[in-house]
Amino acid sequence: MDEKSPEVVTGIQAIIKASALCQKVWANLAGGESIRKRDRSPVTVADYGSQAVICKLIRERFPRDTIVAEEDSKELRRPDRSKILEQVTSYVEAFIPTSSSEEVCSWIDLSSSSIADRFWALDPIDGTKGFLRGDQYAIALALVEKGVVKLGILACPNLYVNIDHPFGEKGCLFVALKGKGSVQTDRNGMSQRTISVSKVTNPSEAIITESVEPDHADHLTHQRLARKLNISKPSLRMDSQAKYGILARGEVTLYLRVPSPAEPGYKENIWDHAAGTIIAEEAGGRVTDVLGNPLDFSRGIKMVENHGILVTNGILHDVVLKALEI
Ligand code: AMP
Ligand code: MG
Repeated sequence: MDEKSPEVVTGIQAIIKASALCQKVWANLAGGESIRKRDRSPVTVADYGSQAVICKLIRERFPRDTIVAEEDSKELRRPDRSKILEQVTSYVEAFIPTSSSEEVCSWIDLSSSSIADRFWALDPIDGTKGFLRGDQYAIALALVEKGVVKLGILACPNLYVNIDHPFGEKGCLFVALKGKGSVQTDRNGMSQRTISVSKVTNPSEAIITESVEPDHADHLTHQRLARKLNISKPSLRMDSQAKYGILARGEVTLYLRVPSPAEPGYKENIWDHAAGTIIAEEAGGRVTDVLGNPLDFSRGIKMVENHGILVTNGILHDVVLKALEI
């Protein structure tokens, strides 16, 4: 597979459309002053719309491929959700003309409940709370063959393109192909540049990134680790797999995701890590769980064999694993 392969071309086209759809939903439904803070409907509309568009375009080009995605249409088909379905359909129509509600539901349901030898893992909106706040969120698509991630595409519509201009142009796409490196492009897939992880060798100079949500990771353990390694810079809290993107382009050094004591038995979903993993690895980083085991994408939707996540610039991986030992 190379950058001209149909998997890459179709995947990028699909994710660009889905990310434009999500931005449009946010601008129309969530960005206004009047939005009630607890109204989750904008993220619901964007989530279903993004999944419908991506599943439809992938299935059309690769009819035999399995897709494993986060949503199904069961809820959406309920009579009391008809207004939401109407909204989803009208947003999807802007990208796939003459879509009916029935078609939209059937595209969402192209998602399978189990993985296969070759499958696509899709998170139509990762970081839903970030989306609602107008902060970071991502659309994540990965192609996995025999448990190995071969292609990762990650759209981060609200991520600044250049760290030196945090309030400048935003909207990034990260693309990685197994053995071929990682690139960042703008929101339209243009202005491509190769990215690589930071070269920091002294742990005390590292910057940590972690979830915003306190229940998604054990922030106290992260703080303890930072003290142990004499890290003085504050952690950067960010929603979604955008964390993998900023690590891959060298802005931060460590992405920590020690399981939260609030839900110690939690098992990670493949779509929350498959795309991010290859983007970090192909940029020179290393990804394991917090015990040092490689992430296992061959077990099903849940990564049952793994415990938490550790992503580093590679250089500091063993030092951090050691420091995490209790
Ligand atoms: P983040 O934006 O990094 O906080 O990650 C968002 C993802 O966390 C969501 O897509 C959820 O699938 C996942 N998630 C939900 N509950 C937990 C939990 N208890 N521990 C870790 N991840 C979780
Ligand atoms: Mg997610």
